Amino acid sequence: MTMPADRLNAVIARAGLASRRTADAWIAAGRVTVNGQPAVTGQRVDPTRDLIVVDGRPLPVASTSVHLMVNKPRGVLSSARAERGRQSVVDLVEMPVGMRLYPVGRLDVDSEGLILLTNDGDWAEKVAHPRYGLERAYVALVDPPPDAAAIHRLLAGVDLDDGPARLLAAQPSRRPAGIDLDAGDRGEWLRVVLAEGRKREVRRLFAAAGSQVRRLVRVGFGPVGLGTLPSGEWRHLTHAEVAALAGKGTGRRPQTGELTVAIDGTSGSGKTTVGRAVAARLGARLVDTGLLYRALTDRAIAFRTDIDDGPALAQLAASLRITITAGEKVIVDGRPVTARLRRPEVDRAVSAVSRHPEVRSAMLAVQRHAARGGPTVMVGRDIGTVVLPDADLKVFLTAAEAVRARRRAVQMDRPDRVDEYRRELAARDAVDTGRAVAPLRQAPGALVLDTGRLDVDGCVAAVLAALDGS
Ligand code: C5P
Repeated sequence: MTMPADRLNAVIARAGLASRRTADAWIAAGRVTVNGQPAVTGQRVDPTRDLIVVDGRPLPVASTSVHLMVNKPRGVLSSARAERGRQSVVDLVEMPVGMRLYPVGRLDVDSEGLILLTNDGDWAEKVAHPRYGLERAYVALVDPPPDAAAIHRLLAGVDLDDGPARLLAAQPSRRPAGIDLDAGDRGEWLRVVLAEGRKREVRRLFAAAGSQVRRLVRVGFGPVGLGTLPSGEWRHLTHAEVAALAGKGTGRRPQTGELTVAIDGTSGSGKTTVGRAVAARLGARLVDTGLLYRALTDRAIAFRTDIDDGPALAQLAASLRITITAGEKVIVDGRPVTARLRRPEVDRAVSAVSRHPEVRSAMLAVQRHAARGGPTVMVGRDIGTVVLPDADLKVFLTAAEAVRARRRAVQMDRPDRVDEYRRELAARDAVDTGRAVAPLRQAPGALVLDTGRLDVDGCVAAVLAALDGS
């Protein structure tokens, strides 16, 4: 057993009861006991374990809780104490004797950046609880830089040794302030976001894409950011940060337990109609992701963005604020655009816009965001395979081409155009099925329904039965 580090008179003083000298006088007068025994002058105690009683009243324990962030340098351990000659983050913080801080979660020894320290066990437990999926943001130097298709793969999700993993977001970044490069530090800086923090997860994700992470800086943890805090320095969290991290107010919400249904299928197979009916029965929101791609296409046409230029289209997507209301209206940067989205011009261009990996990555974030915060039925081409692979139920709708073309003609009240619709649907299916990333595919385990044989009520009944059985 190691000797307790704190002098009893100092502990009494820190609790705010008296000066050290007065405390010594109380000890000498027999007014103080430790674990039921009379205290002696010069005694050492462990204030976190020993019961210290003054005049019959126990000393208040750990009266102040401390919550702070450290910018951990590389080579420093994120453990609660130094090991094998390596310094720990806790050593970077000067705290009163007897105050024991420990890290919330971990950061690899060769990673740097934001780590939280506290002596508040209840708070740490809330912050670390995986149920809330507190997002972690990192800036990583990645070598060689992954191409657009590789980034999309990481966003869609890959299988690691310990289960599936994915990035929630990825975008080019600048080198974080205060980071000095070493020889051999080459590559491109990317800012990535993850929902969780499994051991070496960022490094292992990029390794799965054939790239090495040469530097890794955590810059954000849920609602708090590293900001300009220099490497090796620390600061106290604000009251607002402490509350937000523990889930009070905004900044996080439970992301599990919400019902999601993914509906994919060929063009004109009735996805929106079936999706709407299913959503109504489930009290869920319908998100028709085709409208999101159509909205982007509509803006690309308006701004004369080249529909063969993936990076330019992705940049356009990132600059737009596209939202779908509960009433299925599409709003772009505050303006309603719904009426424009089913124009033949958009019909013809939308699949060409949607085939670029850069566009798909940009739209992935928009779609996953739209699925949060409530039960959702999401309709599209890659919802069950890429956007929401963990959906409670995946549905795939089909119907013969001729059936779909006739239905479209009736819908549009243009019986003379059946052949034209048939050509257009076939052309879109060909591009959607043939693209390199996120092609139109039946998700494994999907419920397959032929809308040429089943009417809407029949489809809804099949979906509800499958949900009941799942
Ligand atoms: O469903 P809708 O016909 O409105 O979709 C228009 C086009 O948007 C599709 O043909 C496809 O090219 C694209 N899309 C997509 N992925 C989705 C939804 C739509 O590529 N999840």
